[in-house]
Amino acid sequence: MTAGLQGAFLALGSTAPDALDRFDACLAALQDDDLQIVSAAPCVRGPFVAGVGASEASDGGPAVTNTVVRIATRLEPAALLARALDEEVRQGRVRDGQPERSLDIDVLLHGETTVETADLVVPHPRMFDRAFVLQPLEAIAPMHRLPGGHGTVVAAASRLRAQDSGAFETLEPLRAPVLPALPASCTRLEDGAALEAWRAEAPGSVGVVMTMGALHEGHLALVRHACAENDRVVVTLFVNPLQFGEGEDLARYPRTLEADEALLRQTGADAVYVPAPDDLYPSDFSTFIEPEGPAQGFEGARRPTHFRGVTTIVLKLWMRTRPDRAYFGRKDAQQVAVLTRMVRDLDLPGALCVVPTVHAADGLALSSRNRYLDGEARASALGLSRALRVMAQAAAEEARTETILSAGRAVLADAGLEVEYLAVVDAETMLPVETLSRPALAMGVVRVAATRLLDNRWLAFGGASAS
Ligand code: AMP
Repeated sequence: MTAGLQGAFLALGSTAPDALDRFDACLAALQDDDLQIVSAAPCVRGPFVAGVGASEASDGGPAVTNTVVRIATRLEPAALLARALDEEVRQGRVRDGQPERSLDIDVLLHGETTVETADLVVPHPRMFDRAFVLQPLEAIAPMHRLPGGHGTVVAAASRLRAQDSGAFETLEPLRAPVLPALPASCTRLEDGAALEAWRAEAPGSVGVVMTMGALHEGHLALVRHACAENDRVVVTLFVNPLQFGEGEDLARYPRTLEADEALLRQTGADAVYVPAPDDLYPSDFSTFIEPEGPAQGFEGARRPTHFRGVTTIVLKLWMRTRPDRAYFGRKDAQQVAVLTRMVRDLDLPGALCVVPTVHAADGLALSSRNRYLDGEARASALGLSRALRVMAQAAAEEARTETILSAGRAVLADAGLEVEYLAVVDAETMLPVETLSRPALAMGVVRVAATRLLDNRWLAFGGASAS
């Protein structure tokens, strides 16, 4: 992949009862050598909106299902639109002025390009006024910078929430579209020597995704981003004993190597590195990284040796894989802050790239540990994502984080959850923020049965005096 690829976003809409199946089929049909589907937001179903610009109003037409899809493409905007229109026709679209539509595809954004022709305007001129566009876009690209002085997606969504919170509340959450496979051969590398031989021969740029296995769509999102931005991708699978404290779940941490490899073959990874512990840690191993700064509060305070274990293994894997780009999930926001600081402080070559958190349709952040939750535990775990959502809504109208935190705490108390912490922090320093002057992270950890669950969400003040 990669040469000449440009990032772009498409909006999909349909009034058909089988809209979700249509979106699945649409993504499968669009993907080819010139267009890779990188991610797709959970769909939302809401009222039909007629008209344009400020006169947009719900007029009682058929319910519409919408989502936003991130792609990497070699197609110029006009050629991309032509592909989209072909797919609309293939799915039976008739432009007869009626509200019913089998499939509607809009080009929202195409890199930094602006287009103003009779057939196509990019950025899409109405995207900033539409909750059914901004909410899905926020789920897959919250910190994407919008052109034309609109700021980040999270800031634009927060401004619209401040003006019209009802438009977000009417959106019913549905599952995300199924992403099409990106078949690859995925060579298994079992030790450092095999990895080194693969790395020395890998042509072009190399993307690296470091995981502890038990893969799910959250990990696969990292792999898809890596495949879109690099010529070769290697995924590491290693349950790192150094980052587990005493009494934590090292022994029962799920290990699912064959299923993981099958998923990676479907998702475009070229190689998977599955070292044994003594390949990385000889018996007299005695050198460790000691992170300070952003490692000190929250997880660092509760799990005193955790980040030392994370930074030590990431540095080792970084040296062995020599990434042009290494991908980490925002779900572990403090880990991202600690590793970003390490990459800067130790002058590591290559870039650390952050991928937005993938949530299940019910709102739970995907985690290898979710398999520990039974139905009842899962239902109460949802209180955390609900609290973060309520905090985003509170931030639309209120910049003081104490007020925003109270709104979140009330939801957690209502859900009867055991809360370890809930905070609003600067994403780089992990220090608490008192007033939202730029996007900050709301993050929390709750305990459900014996399982610790963490999640976070970007907040921006949407009120009139936002800077
Ligand atoms: P783990 O295997 O839990 O160590 O995670 C490996 C990588 O996947 C880390 O960078 C995590 O932040 C990332 N990750 C885990 N869950 C998710 C998720 N739901 N969405 C995005 N990234 C994730």
